[in-house]
Amino acid sequence: MSFKVAVIGAGWYGCHIASSLASLGFDVRIFESERRTLHCASGNNQFRLHMGFHYARHHGTRQQSRDGFLRFIERYPDLSHPIEKNIYAIPVADSLIDFPTYKLIMASSGIDFVETTDFDQWLKNVSGAVLTQERVLMIKQAREHFEKRLKGILHLNATVRSIEAFDSHVRVEGEKYDYVIDATWGHFSGIPRDIYYEPTMLLYYEAQYAHPAITMVDGPLCSVYPTEDPSIFTLSSVEHTPLGTYISSAAAWEKLNSVGSDLVELKRNAMENQITRYVPNFKECFKFRGVQLSIKTKPVGKDDDRSCAVYRDKRTFSVMSGKIDTIFYATERILSLLEENNSSAPLTRNFAIQNDILQLDLPVKFK
Ligand SMILES: Cc1cc2nc3c(=O)[nH]c(=O)nc-3n(C[C@H](O)[C@H](O)[C@H](O)COP(=O)(O)OP(=O)(O)OC[C@H]3O[C@@H](n4cnc5c(N)ncnc54)[C@H](O)[C@@H]3O)c2cc1C
Repeated sequence: MSFKVAVIGAGWYGCHIASSLASLGFDVRIFESERRTLHCASGNNQFRLHMGFHYARHHGTRQQSRDGFLRFIERYPDLSHPIEKNIYAIPVADSLIDFPTYKLIMASSGIDFVETTDFDQWLKNVSGAVLTQERVLMIKQAREHFEKRLKGILHLNATVRSIEAFDSHVRVEGEKYDYVIDATWGHFSGIPRDIYYEPTMLLYYEAQYAHPAITMVDGPLCSVYPTEDPSIFTLSSVEHTPLGTYISSAAAWEKLNSVGSDLVELKRNAMENQITRYVPNFKECFKFRGVQLSIKTKPVGKDDDRSCAVYRDKRTFSVMSGKIDTIFYATERILSLLEENNSSAPLTRNFAIQNDILQLDLPVKFK
């Protein structure tokens, strides 16, 4: 099968999906509002190539990350980098689960780690810690990679404003395609499930001497993680990074654009106080360098689900991104839905696959 496909959005998801479909012989165009790829959430996050250690409370997310990590390294060997010392630690008092339970969950999920007791130099108020092989994403290289790989089919400064859906085709900005994939993380046409938009603030710090990556789990905790420049780290806090909860993308952007120095100071104090509880030398080791603002699209619910899902409405696919390691999952779901769409079976619409649970409504025949 070979189709003409429009992809909207050139974040990690849009770039990977477009590049995979193009290499399978599909006639692909990818449209991005901004002047470069990976400009929004994909270029403004904690740059962690997850293995599953963050998701002790969500099996599906953990599994997707464990598998996606290995596939990411195989497919994009130059787009992530190892971290010399990468510690996940469980605090004595503030974690939602204790250290033995945490270890049990990871080990039984097939996620490799090494327990360490060698952390007193860096950490206090901690009941246990593990060393992990999680890596850091190389954003500059990723932009170069995709802009080269997608040459001729990538359209930058190109905002898509209209899609018209028909039974036999779809028109994007008036041009005819077989399918369209909305890879805007819900910012263009939304996602057919309950979601909200969460503007976020991470803080950038310069390390004054070599420091390990430290992630406190599990629950409303904090982490300090290197970027592609090993002397620059991000500080993130589950409690203090979010700037609110919005049901529309526009309202979330409005909030982000209104952030001023007062709010930055408030958040900086709160986040530094929180991390200093566990990393006592934080203020001596790290010098504040600036803020990173971004927007997360999250499913409504309390179960810590950050897994990826793909939805189809006739010829339009929308991608609910998980973590960056789940780009493979999204592409495979799209291919499988395309195959289903073009098999002899009756066509269905509006079905969603989430964590391997298939939800179908009544079959509908296209005319
Ligand atoms: C604070 C924070 C920390 C995070 N930390 C991590 C982490 O450490 N590791 C990890 O794996 N994940 C992390 N994530 C999640 C990760 O950033 C996202 O899963 C991923 O970036 C989503 O990629 P995407 O391509 O779906 O969306 P985006 O990167 O948001 O890309 C969507 C693109 O669509 C474009 N677009 C929107 N509307 C239109 C339109 N109408 N026409 C054309 N283009 C349009 C946008 O300009 C944008 O470039 C984090 C997210 C945040 C916010």
